[in-house]
Amino acid sequence: MKKGIAILGSTGSIGTQALQVIQASPELFSVELISGNNNAQLLIAQAKQFLPKYIVVTEENAFQKVSRALSNTKFHIVFGEENLLKLLEASEIDTVLNALVGFSGLMPLIRSIQLEKHILLANKESIAIAGAYIMPLAKKKNCTIIPIDSEHSAIFQCLVGERKASIDKIILTASGGPFLNYSTEEYQAINPEEALNHPVWDMGKKVSVDSASLMNKGLEMIEARWLFDLEPNQIEVIIHPQSVIHSLVQFKDGNLKAQLSRPNMLLPIQYALHYPNRANQSFSNFSFTDFPSLTFQHADRKKFRNLALAFIAMEKGGNLPAILNAANEVAVQAFLNKKWPFYRIPELVEEIMSSQTFVSEPDLQTYFETTKKSIAASEAYIRKHT
Ligand code: MG
Repeated sequence: MKKGIAILGSTGSIGTQALQVIQASPELFSVELISGNNNAQLLIAQAKQFLPKYIVVTEENAFQKVSRALSNTKFHIVFGEENLLKLLEASEIDTVLNALVGFSGLMPLIRSIQLEKHILLANKESIAIAGAYIMPLAKKKNCTIIPIDSEHSAIFQCLVGERKASIDKIILTASGGPFLNYSTEEYQAINPEEALNHPVWDMGKKVSVDSASLMNKGLEMIEARWLFDLEPNQIEVIIHPQSVIHSLVQFKDGNLKAQLSRPNMLLPIQYALHYPNRANQSFSNFSFTDFPSLTFQHADRKKFRNLALAFIAMEKGGNLPAILNAANEVAVQAFLNKKWPFYRIPELVEEIMSSQTFVSEPDLQTYFETTKKSIAASEAYIRKHT
């Protein structure tokens, strides 16, 4: 029996690599649905190669282009998130790989869980924002979320066969991004081209900027807290520039487990797609001779203020991670558009975190309202302070 896969965000960095993994084992997987935003060319090419039944496009122009190029074919092409949520009901789809960017990943994740699909999750924002809502729902639906984020895949792999009660803490590794050793002056002059040029990982724009500002690690801490059902004080971050150890679990008996591989997203994607089996094929084997020295350093929360802000959001909980995330999404977009400097991203996030109304036990609607208001407040702050 082939696994019937829906790839949400198929034209992004994770989506294209997921298709590469699938292509390596066509006897195991069939692509039933692909979805993309504005990259019509790539969606058309993917459709022709992988022959999914359904194609979802969420940007109007791209939708027109895809529809025109694939008219008189049997592809079922639809527009927008509402239709995506409906199509997920299709019985051919048993596994949903969610590689959407940011808040847009939330509703498709919730819908997939409600529909009791297998979930492979690369979208970290959804769990960081609404883990308190999502994880009990996943438990009720008996749904295991297999993480694709390399750190969470590492922890997931370290925890196979272990009991939650045996965990002392988990240690997330962070590469530190391209600006780890920048001086304050250098830090103030960072432009988008530099931020998108990560020393180790090749990733999409949003996650590249988040990696450089350490907000990515902040979101990953909150994500880990919910995915592995831990307390905030059980989560630590350490800088490991080579990104070979993807994360570690410290057990109460003093033993420490780590997961190592080359820094290559194909590996956690492959693990998630093949789980609970392991693939026979490796996209890049690890060799210690290529990495003779693995180094570690303290994650400086003063220098990387985003890490401190994410920690506050994780500890306080409620709708605060949603506020943090919304402000960050606006800040990153403004930075990429050269409307807001990189070094002022934490200032904006902190300001919005303190100006928005805190709700300690939000329902699903609250996450949406909070996000909407926080986006508006962030945009107003940028207009006023530039
Ligand atoms: Mg990661």
